[in-house]
Amino acid sequence: MITRFAPSPTGLLHLGHAFSALTAFDLARARGGRFLLRIEDIDRPRCRPEFEQAIFEDLAWLGLDWPEPVMRQSARGAAYEAALARLAQMGLVYPCSCTRADIRAALSAPQEGAAGPGPDGPVYPGTCRGRSMETRRPGDAVRLDMARAMALAGPLTFDEDGPRHRGRHRRSPAQMVSEVGDVVLARKDIGTSYHIAVVVDDAAQQISHVVRGEDLFEATAIHVLLQRLLDLPTPVYHHHRLIRDANGKRLAKRDDARAIRAFRAEGLSPEDVRALVGL
Ligand code: GLU
Repeated sequence: MITRFAPSPTGLLHLGHAFSALTAFDLARARGGRFLLRIEDIDRPRCRPEFEQAIFEDLAWLGLDWPEPVMRQSARGAAYEAALARLAQMGLVYPCSCTRADIRAALSAPQEGAAGPGPDGPVYPGTCRGRSMETRRPGDAVRLDMARAMALAGPLTFDEDGPRHRGRHRRSPAQMVSEVGDVVLARKDIGTSYHIAVVVDDAAQQISHVVRGEDLFEATAIHVLLQRLLDLPTPVYHHHRLIRDANGKRLAKRDDARAIRAFRAEGLSPEDVRALVGL
């Protein structure tokens, strides 16, 4: 078993991160496996070295350890480009110049018959679909042609061993087209996307069990599809509950009051933090 914790250094780790990291660490330890840390810093302008440093310190204080050097997504651009090039060669992606406002306007036109929001926001109405990659201009995003991709991949299945969704999950081509649609695989600002990076890196690190928050459960089918298309193995998924504040709102990076180091500064022990998140 190999598990991982994959934070983005865009803020201080809070109790939700502690829960996620401890869950992945405990699972690997209980089964004689390995726990890896990966820094997800593709969104360069939002990432800061001091937050990365704080991640290392907070996790070590919690009692976790991991092999060094850690994988950093900012150093993995070539691997993400290769994956995108492969999908392009298969004719499954196209450039897209639509802005959010363009998409909103197209979706409000009654004849488009828009579906509700998917895991990546509104289902793209398909304005740029059919454009060839040769027409990609600087500043264009790249989208997956979901209908074509699913025609090639066929129905998707994945196994979940987290408490909330335990069992086998299936997604049909029709579901993926209507509920997810043509997701962005290369953002115009960073040239790649979370979906591509997470799939390529989980495979490169031979992650057998992806432990992460329930908020990413619906995105999992996108990851499984990319694994099929890129001939990568599909790990077992373990989505855990989210830690919420007293008002039931899920914690965000800006909730500094819930930061691990705030509890630390108050004199709490790592065991107290474990207890606070119900471990
Ligand atoms: N970097 C993502 C986050 O901080 C986690 C992605 C994942 O675990 O798949 O939310």
